[in-house]
Amino acid sequence: MAAECLFCRIIAGEIPADIVHRDETVLAFRDINPQAPTHILVIPTRHIASAAGLTDADGPLVGHLFAVIADLARAEGVVASGFRVVTNTGPDAGQSVAHLHLHLLGGRSMAWPPG
Ligand code: 5GP
Ligand code: ZN
Repeated sequence: MAAECLFCRIIAGEIPADIVHRDETVLAFRDINPQAPTHILVIPTRHIASAAGLTDADGPLVGHLFAVIADLARAEGVVASGFRVVTNTGPDAGQSVAHLHLHLLGGRSMAWPPG
């Protein structure tokens, strides 16, 4: 755990969140400022600053993150309509929390390319 990390504090239960999935390696909770009817953040329980910090050794973790996303997409009813998975990495991408998080967005039509 990184003491000053907002998402590590949510994992530790120090900051409340609307948690929709929790297991040993992955936590998922609803975004506080949702940008779509379904907007869930899916994060590793181990502190990794961003996608730039991933290595081959994280293969099982990344696979599990996406398996949780697929389960959540089914539970949210957005598989048929479609959904988007985004991980903003670094300043140009607008990353605002330095703990790897995958946004699961769905429930409305989305534009491409992103702004
Ligand atoms: P980023 O901008 O780094 O891609 O995404 C960070 C996300 O975290 C944003 O969508 C923001 O709304 C969300 N967020 C920031 N602080 C909190 C919080 O305290 N609780 C929850 N649930 N989401 C948060
Ligand atoms: Zn963290």
